[in-house]
Amino acid sequence: MDQAGRKALEARMLREIADLKAQMGDLEERAQTVELDQQAVGRLSRMDSLANQSIAVNALGKAKSRLARLERALSRINDEDFGLCADCGDPIAPARLLAMPEAVLCVGCAD
Ligand SMILES: [Zn+2]
Repeated sequence: MDQAGRKALEARMLREIADLKAQMGDLEERAQTVELDQQAVGRLSRMDSLANQSIAVNALGKAKSRLARLERALSRINDEDFGLCADCGDPIAPARLLAMPEAVLCVGCAD
């Protein structure tokens, strides 16, 4: 990957990380317990709140692991072999690296 490609990918990863952190702030709020609302809302909406809460907890877990993978990839972005397939040595497509920052194989070798 050339320097311009690295820079572009780095910028996209940084933006993605910023987006994820913003999302996580929101999710963390929704993942909190819903106790305060319990008296004010009926049983069904309480169940809704609990369901929404568990969705938020789940999404938060996913966001955290994606954030960790992005940060790990970002820390390696200036390594000589970053973005090269570990198998055939061809460059891995930047779009693939962004979608799967932990990817070490190109699409062809991963199949
Ligand atoms: Zn390959």
